[in-house]
Amino acid sequence: MKYLLVLAVVLVAFYIWRNNRAADAREREQAAPPPRPAPPTAPDAMVTCRHCGLHLPSQDAVKGTLGYYCGHEHRRLAEG
Ligand SMILES: [Zn+2]
Repeated sequence: MKYLLVLAVVLVAFYIWRNNRAADAREREQAAPPPRPAPPTAPDAMVTCRHCGLHLPSQDAVKGTLGYYCGHEHRRLAEG
């Protein structure tokens, strides 16, 4: 009967120790700095068509040897 009591005490102690570890882990998780927000994406640079002066995002522009154009037609007209 004495050993059963010792075993019960050990089990209770183990249970308390485990609960404390789980609480510590949760606290550490909350104390950790929040993940950084994603850096804002850079706005697309605006370029000017060398033929007609239209402003458009560089992503949509056609790049010629002399600069940017709003389309292949204006690049052809400006650069031949
Ligand atoms: Zn143009």
